[in-house]
Amino acid sequence: MYYPEPIAKLIESFSKLPGIGQKTATRLAFHTIAMDDQDVNEFAKNLLSAKRDLRFCSICGNLTEKDPCEICTDNSRDKSMILVVEEPKDVLAMEKIREYRGLYHVLHGTISPMNGISPDEINIKSLIQRLSDTTVTEVIIATNATSDGEATAMYLARMIKPAGIKVTRLARGLAVGSDIEYADEITLSKAVENRLEL
Ligand SMILES: [Zn+2]
Repeated sequence: MYYPEPIAKLIESFSKLPGIGQKTATRLAFHTIAMDDQDVNEFAKNLLSAKRDLRFCSICGNLTEKDPCEICTDNSRDKSMILVVEEPKDVLAMEKIREYRGLYHVLHGTISPMNGISPDEINIKSLIQRLSDTTVTEVIIATNATSDGEATAMYLARMIKPAGIKVTRLARGLAVGSDIEYADEITLSKAVENRLEL
């Protein structure tokens, strides 16, 4: 199929997004050129701004406009607790339930023996550094209930417990294999409340 170059390029861009195949990319590209000029301008502007104005917090690894992020610099938060998640979107899911008032640490992935991802390749070193500060008394591991999420939780517990810090894991309200970002708010707040010591 021959497409004029501008649309071919747009299709190519859409097809680089996760879960978007060639067919969907083509549909989205044609939809985009049918949109109002104003909407297209806004879309382009939002794409650029999201990339340009957001960075990862140098303390917790969360997505933020300013570094350190608003959670790390919020004095009303409980600095004795760090909740460890896989991705920035998991922080959003936790913040939505408004029950957790401690700090976060974003790993940006999991250890994955199957995919050859070692502990050095995710954001673990800076977590260990944060723990040398004695104000932290509990680390809550909220990696997803997948085999990689479990392997990561076990690894972190082994690393952290010898320092005398309590390590807990979200309770099993979450179904095996499920992602934190899709858990409903009641399930998630129960999982935090009933967390188990590792
Ligand atoms: Zn932060």
